[in-house]
Amino acid sequence: MQLIDGKSLSKKVQDYVQLEVKKLKKERGIVPGLAVVIVGDDPASHAYVSMKEKACKNVGFYSIAHKMPNTIMQEEIIEIIEMMNHNPHIHGILVQLPLPAHIDTNRILEVVNPKKDVDGFHAYNVGRMVTGLESFVACTPLGVMKMFEEYNIELEGKDVVVVGASNIVGKPMASLLLNANATVTVTHIYTKDLASHTKRADIVIVGVGVPALIKADMVKEGAIVIDIGINRLEDGSLVGDVDFDAVAPKCSYITPVPGGVGPMTIAMLLSNTLHAAQQVVGKK
Ligand code: NAD
Repeated sequence: MQLIDGKSLSKKVQDYVQLEVKKLKKERGIVPGLAVVIVGDDPASHAYVSMKEKACKNVGFYSIAHKMPNTIMQEEIIEIIEMMNHNPHIHGILVQLPLPAHIDTNRILEVVNPKKDVDGFHAYNVGRMVTGLESFVACTPLGVMKMFEEYNIELEGKDVVVVGASNIVGKPMASLLLNANATVTVTHIYTKDLASHTKRADIVIVGVGVPALIKADMVKEGAIVIDIGINRLEDGSLVGDVDFDAVAPKCSYITPVPGGVGPMTIAMLLSNTLHAAQQVVGKK
């Protein structure tokens, strides 16, 4: 069994981004800028935003966070995003999800200029990604694809089962795998017999939010298991959706939580923002 080390791969990507930022600054006088919009006081969302701000600082980006109260009206969020759309120092805009229930998330995501949509959530980018055209791609599934590339894991013809079908994780993951010629099954809460699918998969990718959902008897010997889930247990520890200790011995490769997909998500956000800035100067 080999661990897929998301932490060190993320560091490698971030070192590359840092180098490119220096070049961009020196040669074009441009500093990539990321704006984060966060609404409400969800502690997990605030923790993610601080991690993103810290990562931006480390690679030399300019970053700003627009923190808004839970009670804010939709139109006010739209105004802020429009402002960022027109701000030449901002190359990437990220709206931290989830948004409060009174806000129409799809409407908000559609306001972001697709050229600054570094999260890849705008329908324009989703459509281009599905079609296999160049686009911004959602950071978490993109991070998983980067892991496959780094570890020379071939996808063509492989049976891949994706567990979880959200717009930000499962669906884009499935599209990218399909574009890489894998045979993809997408499962979700209404799937009748989850184990019957995962048991025959060469690769299982799970992003659900249920600790230890994937047990040892649900994966075949030699499978590759990618755990996207992030769950905080009552004792404060962080676990994924896979019963890691029991499943790992059966796997050829597995990602840990923490230290797996999580750090890759941040790395791909930085990479997408760098690309957005490079596109402005016609470098990419
Ligand atoms: P979501 O709630 O939007 O979607 C969950 C999906 O899982 C849905 O499609 C649902 O049908 C499915 N599901 C729920 N229970 C299931 C079950 N028992 N069996 C099979 N399918 C089930 O969540 P999300 O935003 O997609 O996030 C999923 C998980 O991934 C969460 O733990 C989240 O914290 C994590 N996540 C991690 C990263 C990262 O960087 N590693 C990024 C985004 C999300």
